[in-house]
Amino acid sequence: MGAPMQQSASEHVNSYYAATRNIDTTYPALAGDERCDVVVVGGGFTGVSALLFLVERGYNAILLEANRVGWGASGRNGGQMIDGFVEEGKISKKLGPEAEQIAYRMGLECRDIVVDRIDKYQIDCDLRFGYLDLAMNQGDMRNFEETWESKQRAGYPHEVRLLDAREVRDYIGSDAYIGGLANAGNGHLHPLNLCLGEAAAAVGLGARIFEQSPVTRIHHGASPRVETAAGVVHANKVLLAGNAYLGRTEPRLAGAVIPAGSYIIATEPLSKELAEELLPHDSACCDQRVALDYFRLSADRRMLFGGMCNYSGRVPKSIKASLQPNMLAVFPQLADARIEYEWGGDIGITMNRIPQLGRIDGNTYYAQGYSGHGVAPTHLAGKILADVIAGDSEQFDVFAKVRHLRLPGGKWFANPALALGMLYYRVRDALGISIR
Ligand SMILES: Cc1cc2nc3c(=O)[nH]c(=O)nc-3n(C[C@H](O)[C@H](O)[C@H](O)COP(=O)(O)OP(=O)(O)OC[C@H]3O[C@@H](n4cnc5c(N)ncnc54)[C@H](O)[C@@H]3O)c2cc1C
Repeated sequence: MGAPMQQSASEHVNSYYAATRNIDTTYPALAGDERCDVVVVGGGFTGVSALLFLVERGYNAILLEANRVGWGASGRNGGQMIDGFVEEGKISKKLGPEAEQIAYRMGLECRDIVVDRIDKYQIDCDLRFGYLDLAMNQGDMRNFEETWESKQRAGYPHEVRLLDAREVRDYIGSDAYIGGLANAGNGHLHPLNLCLGEAAAAVGLGARIFEQSPVTRIHHGASPRVETAAGVVHANKVLLAGNAYLGRTEPRLAGAVIPAGSYIIATEPLSKELAEELLPHDSACCDQRVALDYFRLSADRRMLFGGMCNYSGRVPKSIKASLQPNMLAVFPQLADARIEYEWGGDIGITMNRIPQLGRIDGNTYYAQGYSGHGVAPTHLAGKILADVIAGDSEQFDVFAKVRHLRLPGGKWFANPALALGMLYYRVRDALGISIR
């Protein structure tokens, strides 16, 4: 059973994912001087995706990870693979309809990159198709109807079904919901095994990865240098992919994303009969609240039940005590199911919920702030960063134009603001007010 997590340790937290990882990485720590075309800081999906795209195109690339590959949000998340790079309508409000079209296509592309990668590199990460958005009130249902209609108009390439109260019971053994929107193109997977598999693919193509190598300082300029305690990488370009864990590595990005804790519990493996009663289509599920419940079955039939239950920057004393009541409210059938793992991680949230892509000092680029919806978008962000290095900046330019608010002071000043904001939304959730 997983002991309570230790956020600061440089090894993986005691999650279900870490316990079932296919690869135990032991990439060396950086020591001495290295040279390359591009150095990537951060070994989550954003950094590893960029690394793989770069070496596929023949670049000499190095990745520096402070802990282990997949140690951050990428190795701890709900595993829900959902398309969409940014919420519909957000980009047109800022940059007009043409940019919205580009953003729409990016939303489809990010999911396809994940599926194609898994196929191309034969990554064993339990990919299953089937995703279910769940409604708790009429406002949610109206949003689903609009989403369904807009997908029909746009010629959305995957099957999407609007489910009423009776039909949703064919998808989920719970009385908690009044309807749903089922999407056959999205799904779920084992995120840590995906990340580790992609890193192995990159190394197979010549990338170099250094773990337990926190970057302490970046010297910008015509020939950037990226330093760790024991070494330095000289590169032509730098990619920053530390997201909610970047801290003050690059002071100009501190406070740009707000780190918010999200947490997951995993039950013991359930009987085949019970698993089929709870989620007969093996869908990944999510409700529509800001402080939402998200859940799915693992490949060995555990219920992985997640929620955002802490906004203060402090890990709850007992994740199990915080989340188990939520799980039992949805699935009272799990009253006797033992909780075997509990863990959490930091999500990088942006004030406007639009991912941040940008450039610092000419040759340093960053991508971050997927606001809780990053499994697929990070993969496209990695491609966009590799594209911009290769001279193609069409998609990068759309997002680099968006102005973002930055909270002064970075992490520790940011969280009280987030806590206040989330309190507001929790009250709206409690009153059943839809936020869209
Ligand atoms: C509990 C939880 C559940 C989630 N569920 C889902 C979900 O179901 N579906 C979904 O789409 N999204 C989900 N998300 C969000 C998703 O996981 C993230 O958006 C995504 O993984 C971000 O990837 P990343 O590579 O940008 O950052 P991370 O995966 O956090 O990686 C950043 C890495 O950078 C490293 N780093 C930071 N600073 C330095 C430095 N100075 N030197 C070297 N390395 C450094 C860190 O050690 C870390 O490994 C969830 C997130 C959490 C925490």
